This record gives sequence, C-alpha cells and structure tokens, in this order.
Amino acid sequence: MSTVLAAYGLVKKYGSTTALAGVDLEIGEHDSLAIMGPSGSGKSTLLHTLAGIVRPDDGRVLLHGDRIDDLGENRLSALRRRRFGFVFQFGQLLPELPAEENVALPLMLEGVPRGRAVERARRWFAPLGLDGLEKRRPGQLSGGQAQRVAIARALATEPDVVFADEPTGALDQRTGEEVVRLLTSVTRAQGAALVVVTHDADVAAHCGRILQVRDGRISSHSQYTVG
Ligand code: ADP
Repeated sequence: MSTVLAAYGLVKKYGSTTALAGVDLEIGEHDSLAIMGPSGSGKSTLLHTLAGIVRPDDGRVLLHGDRIDDLGENRLSALRRRRFGFVFQFGQLLPELPAEENVALPLMLEGVPRGRAVERARRWFAPLGLDGLEKRRPGQLSGGQAQRVAIARALATEPDVVFADEPTGALDQRTGEEVVRLLTSVTRAQGAALVVVTHDADVAAHCGRILQVRDGRISSHSQYTVG
C-alpha cells in the first residue's frame, strides 16, 4: 500500500504546553485511521497539523512524498481545498444554500462552473442515502442528513484524504452509527484515506486502525480488519 500522508517527528507547543511531543505516522491509500485519547491529549492538534491547518514547530508532513508543512499560506490553502476534505461536528453547512449547492461549493471555489458543479455534486446524494433531498436547505434536514451532506461536500473534490473531527459528536448513537458507516464506506469507495478524531469506541471500530494518543504521543496502535 503506498503512503498518502506521512508525518515524522511532529512537535507542537503552545507556550509551555506541549500538544505534540514527537509523532510519527504513515497513512496509506484506502487507509482509515481513528485517533482516540483523553481530552487534551493532542488529538485535534494532530489532525490539524496533518491537514496543514496548524504548522508544527518541528518535524515534517508529507503528502505523496512532498513536504507540505513548509508551504506558503496561499499554496497550503489551495492544497487543503483540492486535496483534503473536512467533516466537523456540526454547523459546517451554509444555511441559505440548498444541500446540492452546499456540496457543489468546493467545486465552484475551484472554478468549476455552477451548473457542472451542481451536476457533479448530485452524484453523491444516492450513495449517501440522500436521494430527493437535493433542494432542501440545512434547516430542513435532520442532524444525520446534514452530516451526510457534509460528507458529500468533503468528497466533492475527490480528495486524497478526508479529515473528520468528532463527526458524530452531535448525533444520537443510532444516527451516529449510520453516519460513520457511510463515512467510512463511501470514502473508501472514492479511494480517499480517512482520519477520524473520536472519543467513541464504536466509531473507531469502523476504522481500519486505531491510534491512542496520550500527552502528545502515540501510546498504542492497533490494527483492525474491517469486515
Ligand atoms: P484533544 O483534541 O485531545 O482534546 P488538543 O489537541 O485540543 O487535545 O490540545 C492538546 C493540548 O494543547 C491541550 O493542553 C490544549 O489545552 C492545548 N492547546 C490546543 N490548542 C491550543 C491553542 N490554540 N492555544 C493554546 N493551547 C492549546
């Protein structure tokens, strides 16, 4: 399996707090990785550093072998838009836009004309069980539906890596289970790697690997076989 995203010797400090104390990690194509650990252990900092949102104080992040941690802000934000997709806990959809335009937005930001972007966006609705909801605004969607629209939006540009930070944190258990099942299966089918921060062991169990983070370090690393 070829490595999509790699990090070596990642260190990040906030004042006297060491959020990352030397993390090494490799993520392969079709890999899905859950990052778990106690609150304050460095999970979000790790996700944000891998995704080029936070710059490490030391160490390197490589996408397909090319360093990205030292890119200028403009190149880094273009890379995030094109090569990465993001799913957050909630509140990421624009309330005034129909679902299909929310999904089309990253494509339009890349210069795809509106009509073609919406047409491409609509292709994600059936695989995510959202058929018929294309014209609904986020306020007219359930929490689980809105999260599936957010997943469609994260996948719209056919990214190399999808990053999800507590993607089921605002959902009840059953809805969260359905959302994570779709997140992992549709991301894998698209050919993207997946990195999920979660405190929920049921969510992590859908991922191929689980990393435990403690005090800014990887404390254990388990390999699962996803059936
Ligand atoms: P987790 O996601 O596991 O809860 P974080 O990565 O958010 O952990 O935080 C790791 C440590 O870094 C914590 O001690 C947190 O308080 C600190 N930290 C994170 N972000 C910042 C920031 N922007 N400014 C100051 N301290 C921060």
